[in-house]
Amino acid sequence: MPKYAEEILAVVTELQRHLTAEQVFMEMKKEHPSIAIGTVYKHLNTLTEEGLLRRITESGSPDRYDRTERHDHLICSRCGKIADVHLPDIQSRIEYALGCDILSYDLKIRYICPDCREQEENNAEGGTQ
Ligand SMILES: [Zn+2]
Ligand SMILES: [Zn+2]
Repeated sequence: MPKYAEEILAVVTELQRHLTAEQVFMEMKKEHPSIAIGTVYKHLNTLTEEGLLRRITESGSPDRYDRTERHDHLICSRCGKIADVHLPDIQSRIEYALGCDILSYDLKIRYICPDCREQEENNAEGGTQ
């Protein structure tokens, strides 16, 4: 693997925080102060193309990177926070419904996260007069 690629892969898979390219860059800078953000972008692209990383695209926010281990995502519609969720694999059910094999699927579930819900409740309590 080319220089840095392995470390970038490790940063994304070990931290498990759905980092943006910029955040991966900040992590890499701790060890390699001279690394360029372009290098980070390039490796993230290659690693994604090679199937070693998974890219999470959401309109209106920067792409995030994640480990490829099978799991799905809960995305808060309010603050955009992404949480991992482990649901049963439904690949075979999709294939049954389609009548053919599929390569992969990407499940993004939108909700209001506990933090935002709490905030909303607090606002509702204080705001009624
Ligand atoms: Zn939220
Ligand atoms: Zn994830």
